Amino acid sequence: MAEDKLSKIVALCRRRGFVFGGSEIYGGLGSFWDYGPLGAKLKKRIKDIWWDTYVEKRNEIVGLDSSIIMHEDVFKASGHLEGFTDSLVDCPHCKKRFRIDKLEKIGDNLYKCEECHTNIDSSKSKPRKFNLMLKTNVSATEDEPYYGYLRPETAQGIFVNFKNVMDSMHKKLPLGIAQIGKAFRNEVTTGSFIFRMKEFEQMEIEYFVKPEEADEKYKYWVNERFDFYVSKIGLKKENLRLREHEKDELAHYAKSCTDIEFNFPFGWSELEGIANRGNFDLTEHAKVSKKDLSCFDDETKERFTPYVIEPSAGVDRTFFAVISDAYNEEEVNGKTRVVLKLKPSLAAYYAAVFPLLKNKPELVELAKKIFCDIKDKFPASYDDTGAIGKLYRRQDEIGTPLCITVDVESLTDKKVTIRDRDTMKQERIDTERVVEYIKEKVSQNK
Ligand code: ATP
Repeated sequence: MAEDKLSKIVALCRRRGFVFGGSEIYGGLGSFWDYGPLGAKLKKRIKDIWWDTYVEKRNEIVGLDSSIIMHEDVFKASGHLEGFTDSLVDCPHCKKRFRIDKLEKIGDNLYKCEECHTNIDSSKSKPRKFNLMLKTNVSATEDEPYYGYLRPETAQGIFVNFKNVMDSMHKKLPLGIAQIGKAFRNEVTTGSFIFRMKEFEQMEIEYFVKPEEADEKYKYWVNERFDFYVSKIGLKKENLRLREHEKDELAHYAKSCTDIEFNFPFGWSELEGIANRGNFDLTEHAKVSKKDLSCFDDETKERFTPYVIEPSAGVDRTFFAVISDAYNEEEVNGKTRVVLKLKPSLAAYYAAVFPLLKNKPELVELAKKIFCDIKDKFPASYDDTGAIGKLYRRQDEIGTPLCITVDVESLTDKKVTIRDRDTMKQERIDTERVVEYIKEKVSQNK
């Protein structure tokens, strides 16, 4: 059933222009995906909500847009060149390669193969380290290559600009620097649609604090980010949970870490990680760059290196969670209705307008006029390419909260039929009230 839901979501995303395979006409490029017209809109809505919540609405957080390709020394300092590796093990039976930390451990050195379910003995099939960094030649000639690295997290762009931001913005701690952008990892275990990609997008905040405030701010961010998914993105609370990392699971830089997990079609998996990174990053960058990245404490009159709390979210995983959470199938008159019950403000179109009859010019004209009035205020769609039932189904599948039908009577009574996506209830309202009606619907929380 869960597998079934996954393939239905993938098919819907393709059919309705949300997500396509990367380089598809050339046979595809594994683990790269393209967002279609509706996918690009949903992705942008998610990013806008995040940016608005943290950068626009808060005084102690500022935004940043740093380069994707960075100097090799950045990743020497961050530990990525040395330590950003996966331990891979080959199954001696089916010959497939797996990340050992993702396999089920069934005894000392014994793991269960995900593919053929036989045992893998890691004392015989020795795990090998594989670095996930992607590098590219940034010199002007091929004979004398000079390599830069594609960042595996947006965070490093923030750390290397910490001093620039402090100096130019005249801020005091706590100070958050927020960034949305692409990150790249040569992931080995791929699949599961857009859950694990080699090119993906992150929304990260590095929240710099005095060391003694780190624990409290860490707890604050765990709760804040959990609430964000429920109240701002509209995910169901029962599909979200927190999971605190065990000490032996923590990344080399982290003092503590909690994952926000979502109940994806293939099970509970990480949607976001919130970590207390201590002062690891600034300390290491100060060492390697030989620049002073410390702050002055006005009270103690001493210099110190700030601690940092990092809520690190994936745009693509949030997108996947939103579609998965909203996906519903309902039996209506013996037929299956597929409907995306998205939070209305996330929908690609807040309303769709149809003329009931396409061959009546006055009707089409009125429908187009109503559409233009709406479009002036909200994202909207006009469609006259099918029978009404088909048009409703199309809009249900992409999560349009309201459909407006203009019929012959509309010409005289100046009313239209407005249909609610979730209840399918139809109401007749004055044409003049349409824009207001949509506004009310979209401002409702769900
Ligand atoms: P995982 O254990 O699933 O590989 P991670 O712990 O390595 O994830 P982080 O380094 O904490 O991930 O990255 C922060 C966030 O970035 C993740 O919670 C996820 O939302 C997103 N992310 C990380 N790697 C990928 C990827 N390959 N594809 C899509 N999103 C990703």
